[in-house]
Amino acid sequence: MNVKNAEIVSIGTELLQGGLVDSNSLFLTETLHGIGIEVSYRTTVGDDRQRIHQVLRQALDRAAVVVVTGGLGPTKDDCTRDALGDVSGGPLILHDETLKAIEERFARREVPIPEVVKRQAWVPDGFVVLPNRHGTAPGLLWEEGGRLLVALPGPPREMRPLFTEQVLPVLLRGAGSARRIRTRTIRVCGLREAQVEERITDLLGTEHPPVSLLARPGEVHIRMTVCGTEEEVESQLALWETRVRDRLGEAVFGVDEERLEEAVGRLLRLQGQTVAVAESCTGGLVAHRITNVPGSSDYFERGIVSYSNRAKLDLLQVPFSLIEQHGAVSSEVAVAMAAAVRRLAGTDLGIGVTGIAGPGGGSEAKPVGLTYIALADVRGEEWCEHRFPFDRDQNKLWSSQMALEMLRRFLLKARTEPS
Ligand code: ATP
Ligand code: MG
Repeated sequence: MNVKNAEIVSIGTELLQGGLVDSNSLFLTETLHGIGIEVSYRTTVGDDRQRIHQVLRQALDRAAVVVVTGGLGPTKDDCTRDALGDVSGGPLILHDETLKAIEERFARREVPIPEVVKRQAWVPDGFVVLPNRHGTAPGLLWEEGGRLLVALPGPPREMRPLFTEQVLPVLLRGAGSARRIRTRTIRVCGLREAQVEERITDLLGTEHPPVSLLARPGEVHIRMTVCGTEEEVESQLALWETRVRDRLGEAVFGVDEERLEEAVGRLLRLQGQTVAVAESCTGGLVAHRITNVPGSSDYFERGIVSYSNRAKLDLLQVPFSLIEQHGAVSSEVAVAMAAAVRRLAGTDLGIGVTGIAGPGGGSEAKPVGLTYIALADVRGEEWCEHRFPFDRDQNKLWSSQMALEMLRRFLLKARTEPS
């Protein structure tokens, strides 16, 4: 099959009523993109036989590959099977092997089969059945006149393996050429989007590869997409990654999915350093993020959430007089928190975070978003001040981001300094 473009149709009334994110379409788009098939349309349609029929007809008119997810289940609202039959013109026929697979599945669990479940063994004539190891509804595939129509069950844990294991090989067989499309994301922290843009402006201006910038809370992502053969895409990506890194230096903390807390963890492990954190406004978010990384017990000792003034005194021995004199949100208190948690935990490094997350609690002198972050090591403490202009959630996220970034920069500096 000579595949050029694809269309994705997600089926389910719940997708149109909010509350359910269409992650299937995202997965399919990325996977198809990865093998050089462009997705030209994505449509979402409710569980309505006529509407699904209409959407599928239209999709098959304009795309070589149509991938459908959802509505293959046993309940009355699941009518994708019928709509597929309407498209192919074939009646639903009983597929013995699927019925057997369903019966065996229920027998293994020693529960009686509800009659409705057997509906899933009825498939439109002319469709190839794709056995589903993770559920009862099989996938369905129809090839006609150089076009491919594939229907997969909605639950992602069933849909993904079915697509990867049984649909991708069909598409790759047809792709003919070894053309690939690959994307790489370079993640940057400590520079604003405009600063990043300024430094790589000439790279953005070139036609190959397309480079785009995306601002995320406390970081900027630079996305590059290249096409060519397997070898070409690899060497192109390596070349462009080097160019971007040359311009941005230590601001680059990771590639693709790597998170800031993983980059920090890697440095701590590499340098054999340990850390503890004392948090006020972030309510444990910094500790949460550090411990999201598997193996973090090697370098993370403890996190203390000292939210109230009394907690700062009880848990960290930050004197009331210091709080009274400078306020709980001050560089002095951040420094005292960092030093105290380092001392109590017996770690190499200590982090202290105190700020006003909002929406209340701000004043002219100390507005919402004002945050102090301190870092303590054997030689003493350093601190920085931030003024975040966001809402509570975002202010907390940015505070945790800047605390991790402060730690990362400190570790990078320590690496280059003679000890
Ligand atoms: P089932 O046998 O579970 O009924 P189905 O093929 O009929 O499978 P749906 O009823 O459409 O699928 O959806 C079942 C569940 O799968 C949904 O409740 C949802 O959790 C998930 N799901 C469906 N479509 C999507 C989608 N496009 N993206 C992410 N999840 C989805
Ligand atoms: Mg269903």
